[in-house]
Parts: sequence; structure tokens; C-alpha cells
Amino acid sequence: MQRSIADAGWRFDNSYARLPEPLFTPAVPASVRAPAIVVLNAPLAADLGLDPEVLEAEGAAVFAGNALPPGATPIAQAYAGHQFGQFTNLGDGRAILLGEQLTPDGRRYDIQLKGSGRTRYSRGGDGRAALGPMLREHIVSEGMHALGIPTTRSLAVATTGEQVLRATPLPGAVLTRVAASHIRVGTFQYAAALADEGLLAPLFEHALARHDPELARADDPAAAFLEAVVERQAALVARWILVGFVHGVMNTDNMVVSGETIDYGPCAFLDAYDPATVFSSIDRQGRYAYSNQPAIAHWNLARLAESLLPLMKGGDEAALERAQGVLGTFPERFERHRLAGARAKLGLISKEEGDGELFAALLERMHETRADFTATFAGLARWAEAGPSAADGCGESVFSGWCDLWRARLTRQSGTPAEAAARMQRVNPVVIPRNHRVEEALTAAEAGDFSVLHRLLAVLHSPFDETPENEAYRVGPPAGCGPYRTFCGT
Ligand code: AMP
Ligand code: MG
Repeated sequence: MQRSIADAGWRFDNSYARLPEPLFTPAVPASVRAPAIVVLNAPLAADLGLDPEVLEAEGAAVFAGNALPPGATPIAQAYAGHQFGQFTNLGDGRAILLGEQLTPDGRRYDIQLKGSGRTRYSRGGDGRAALGPMLREHIVSEGMHALGIPTTRSLAVATTGEQVLRATPLPGAVLTRVAASHIRVGTFQYAAALADEGLLAPLFEHALARHDPELARADDPAAAFLEAVVERQAALVARWILVGFVHGVMNTDNMVVSGETIDYGPCAFLDAYDPATVFSSIDRQGRYAYSNQPAIAHWNLARLAESLLPLMKGGDEAALERAQGVLGTFPERFERHRLAGARAKLGLISKEEGDGELFAALLERMHETRADFTATFAGLARWAEAGPSAADGCGESVFSGWCDLWRARLTRQSGTPAEAAARMQRVNPVVIPRNHRVEEALTAAEAGDFSVLHRLLAVLHSPFDETPENEAYRVGPPAGCGPYRTFCGT
């Protein structure tokens, strides 16, 4: 018997839509001319308790916004945000939350359409998205997931059969995003700016129930929640730094309290290591440069702290002091995560005072020589395996003096070089979503050829294994590519 999309396994419980308006506005996805799935994430579907075969055969209408799955309560969420430092009221201008899917084992995930038409918050925008940027989000978010970095996911990208007008007409598409929640720093800023306890308190209860239910019993749940978010963001940004990721637009509306990476716009990965790298064409001041990311996360978290102040215990001054105390822990938390990750990248299992300096010295050499970030660390794992013989490349490379120090350091801990190499291979990826490969896949897809995209997605699925299939994906861009730029024209 033919099964319909209603039988795919949807199990919605839409708790956000039970919060008071104006935290959201009901919204209906726009119908489009010719829905077609171009990529479906079957493993993610299965994880959500959805039947990939039914979705593949019958899901296009849902993934393009023409049909609603049973149990959906479509809404656009309201939020504010500091964009490049300027406070603005925003909201889902081109995204619609269908609802919260409960997985068979009881986890809860937002299912959101991105690019599904205008909402109350669209301002001058058309509410639409182009195929390139939606595929880019699919590729990079799934690549991040494979790297083990917390991120929103992409369940599907569907084309609409319509064009969107950007600098030129482009094929339109809708991405189905899956997230632990879409509660942003900016969501709290929005509620706080309305100065309505009737909004802020229920929003907070909702966020706590979803992400930190155990903190409801804390002495000061709002302060405890702030600390939990500070910890998650410190861990997250450290992971970005350790893999060479530049988010590109770390506005407070693009930072979620769940600690997932969200909103893949002008993001990109470093090829040559340069801490000042900025990819986004609109980031002229370098506010969101690679090495600025921890400071910006800290700044954004200060905006969350301000928004939570009215909920904290003990009157204004006590609350402020507590919030500042929690915020003040961000730099050391970030450093702790970064150093732990740095040790792992270098194969170190013991701790020595000088480990941070050893890592910094390597980065300095890499900067001077414009070494490829990913390939350098992948190469170190091979060098560890070769052991302390001089004729293996490391001792003869531009890193020679550093290599001696590193090898001496490795001998001051237990285990063999082969064991160190095996550990390093589990944390230093050989393939990442390299910019030139992402662009190549998007260009082919825009011309109707999705084979390049599917090959890239397959390779990114196993970023830590050297395979014959990924050999060509391990290297940086061909010479003469020039500095990479990403555009916000999404
Ligand atoms: P972003 O830079 O993608 O994080 O978006 C910033 C804000 O602009 C959010 O409120 C978006 O919903 C809104 N936005 C972005 N693109 C569009 C569009 N094409 N139509 C309407 N709103 C948009
Ligand atoms: Mg955004």
C-alpha cells in the first residue's frame, strides 16, 4: 500500500507555540510552483524517528512548504539582536518553525523551514532563499556534525521551481533545519527589551526545561542557566578555533543558548593559517575574524547576562555582581577547552606547563609560512607515527626546530609514537568542507548537476579517515585562487 507523508512518523509537541505572543506570530509557508527534493539526510531522518523512504517519495511538498506535516503549528519566532554591534528587532523573516519533533527515545528537535516565504518579521525581504546558500548550509552544517562539533542539522534541501531575485535571478530553495532549539541570545534580548516579566519569565522557563532541566532546582536558576550557556559557548568556540572555522556573522541573533553552531551564512574554514582571516565581504572591520571569535562570544554572552538580570535573585546589585562573576569565567573556560583540544591535536595525554607555548609556537610557524591549517595537523599525526627518526620530513621541514621540541615532549609521556599517532588521527581531520570544494559543488548544483555535491557530502561524512576517495579533497585550493570571500547575499 502506498504510504503518504502523514505516515512518515511525525510526532509533534509544539511547546514554543504555547508561549505567549508576541514571542512569535503564526505564519504559513508560501506555496511554490514545483517542489523537488535535491538532498535528503536519511540518517538524520531515521534518528528523528522519520521514515527516510516515505520522506524521499512523498516529502517534497513538506520540504518546500506546500504541505504541512500532521501536528505542525507553523510560527515565526520573534527575536532581537546586535548586528555588528547595533541593536535591532528582527525575528524569523524567512524561516517558519513547523514544530518540535519528539524522537522515539524522547529527545525534542525543532523542525524549521528556511526560505519558505514572508512573515510578520520580513521587513523589506522576500522571505525566500536561493539554492546555493541553502546547499552551503547543508554541506557545512553536516560537515561540522561529522567533525563532532555541536551544530544545527539539515534534514533536506528542496528546490521550489521558482526564481529568487538577488543580484541576478537564482534558483529558489528551502532548507529544513533541525535544531535542539532556536532560542537565541537575541530571543532573550527581545523579551528583555519589551520589559515584560510576562514574556521573559515564561521564555526562561521554556529554555530551562529544554536545555537545563536539572538547573530548576538551583539556588538561582537564571544565574545557573547563564553559567551553563557560558560553558557551552566557551566549549563551542574552542572547537571552532581548533578546526579553523570562521562563523562570519556572530551577531547575537546567530548565537543559540543550546550551544549549537547556527546560521551558516558567510562562514568558511581556514586554508592557510592566518589568525586575522575574515571571509565575509560585509565584515569590513574584521569584527568576526577567526581570532576575534572568543572575544565576540564573550561580548554576546554579556548581552544574554543583561537580559537575564531581571530574573536573577537578590535585587539589582547582587544580581549584577553574580552575572559579572559568571561572565568573568568565560576567558578561562575558553582557554581550558582550547588547551585541552590543543594537547589532543598534538597527541599529548599528560599535562605540562609549557604545552600552551608549544602549541602557540607551532601556530606562529604556521602563520609565518602560511601553512595549511588542516593539512599541517594531519601531517603531524603521520610524523608522530614515524617516530624520532630524522629522515621522515618533520625534522627537515620548516617546522624542524619545533619538531624537536614536540618529539622531546612526546617522549616525556607514556605510550608509543604509534599510539600518539592513532590518537591524533581521531581528532585532526584530513578533510573539512574546504571553500573551493564547497563552491565547486554549489556551482555544479546551480547548473543542475548534483553529483559533485553528493560526492563532497560522502567524503565529509568521514573526516578523520584517509581513504582513496578523499585524497583529492585533503589538499588546499590550487595556487592563484586569491583570497576567499563569502557573501551575505543569501
Ligand atoms: P541572517 O543574516 O541570515 O542571520 O538574517 C538576519 C535577519 O534578516 C533575520 O531576521 C532574517 O530572518 C532576516 N532575513 C534574511 N534574509 C531575508 C529575506 N530574504 N527575507 C526576509 N528576511 C530575511
Ligand atoms: Mg540569523
